Amino acid sequence: MNAPIAQARLLPRKDRFELPDGILYLDGNSLGVLPKGAAERAARTITSEWGQDLIKAWNTANWMHLPKTVGDRIAPLIGAAQGTVATGDTLSIKVYQAVAAALQMRPDRKVVLSDNGNFPTDLYMAKGLIDTIGKNHELKVVDPESVVDAIDESIAVVMLTQVDYRTGRMHDMKAITDKAHAAGAVMIWDLAHSAGAVPVDLTGCNTEFAVGCTYKYLNGGPGAPAFIYARPDIVETIQPALAGWLGHDAPFAMELGYRPAMSTERLRIGTPAIVQLSILDEALNAFEGVTMEDIRKASIVLSERFIAEVERRCPMLELASPRDPQARGSQVSFRFEKGYEAMQALIERGVIGDFRAPNIMRFGFTPLYLDEADVFAAAEILEDIMSTGAWKDPKYAVRSRVT
Ligand SMILES: *Cc1c(COP(=O)(O)O)cnc(C)c1O
Repeated sequence: MNAPIAQARLLPRKDRFELPDGILYLDGNSLGVLPKGAAERAARTITSEWGQDLIKAWNTANWMHLPKTVGDRIAPLIGAAQGTVATGDTLSIKVYQAVAAALQMRPDRKVVLSDNGNFPTDLYMAKGLIDTIGKNHELKVVDPESVVDAIDESIAVVMLTQVDYRTGRMHDMKAITDKAHAAGAVMIWDLAHSAGAVPVDLTGCNTEFAVGCTYKYLNGGPGAPAFIYARPDIVETIQPALAGWLGHDAPFAMELGYRPAMSTERLRIGTPAIVQLSILDEALNAFEGVTMEDIRKASIVLSERFIAEVERRCPMLELASPRDPQARGSQVSFRFEKGYEAMQALIERGVIGDFRAPNIMRFGFTPLYLDEADVFAAAEILEDIMSTGAWKDPKYAVRSRVT
């Protein structure tokens, strides 16, 4: 009898998460919340699989296949085919792998193009790789708005993060990938703030590589493994720069020479983090039966509501995100000179967002576990802090290591 109503309200699904009382969590873009069942799964992996089966668990509990199992569960969320996503390591490492592989595909070109909206580690990893190669490659970093114009036939690799971690501004993946390909460049997309946040169509946009992390919108927990996608038609030509034994075609043949697996598995490196992978596997259950389009629709409702409420209540905050919801990811940022202090005051009142230097107050919208009432309540508390000047208490100016 209630089926149509139940169907219309697919989201949120708060019952699938451990949400602490008295907290409005607008930081799932940085670290997703704990999914129900994840702690039990980790405990089972530790006490039963590891504790009882010991080394046999690599076979009996399918540990050796878990990276692929999990990759195949991430794939539909990013518009990728089965067997095209490898998991493991950290996103920084996956960036390195992707740039190294992409540069090898264009030996006659020297420039890696990125933008200054990219996350620093992506730029650091590319620069570190370039210095290691030592063949006068160049990392060219332009404004996000100038990327399209900067793509020409000198560019070997275009490496971009789709959603800007500070402002939420979103690049047009298809248009940029097409431009890169027309110029003969290889494309790499970083989906750190896209996976589980916005619909992505990796197959449709035809990018060669994509990478991302799983502790943000995918709720895999701190230190959860990263992922890397490689377009199926190029997989067998990729020469892994980090040629680890688990990317070998036959790891247990223990051959002295490296022979890469004839699949995306060649992008695996070493022993997978099984406890983290088991948590991530459990976390992905929260996406079952809901499409990324459903999540996107709900995310836009939440973020539009938040912007309207905050602008009405807090005139001193300046919207730093694109006003057009189609042009931003699943986060909203405001500029405020004393943003760090204001965010600390907000967190003390139970509204958790975060701060990014120099002046960005950042709020993430995660429709799996947030509803409009939460957004409204968060805006109300923000108004109170701003209008009373409560943030001016000197204790809020003390900087923590993680902001
Ligand atoms: C979060 C994030 C990272 C973090 O990399 P780790 O290696 O997981 O610490 C890298 N790049 C982007 C674009 C990010 O948003």
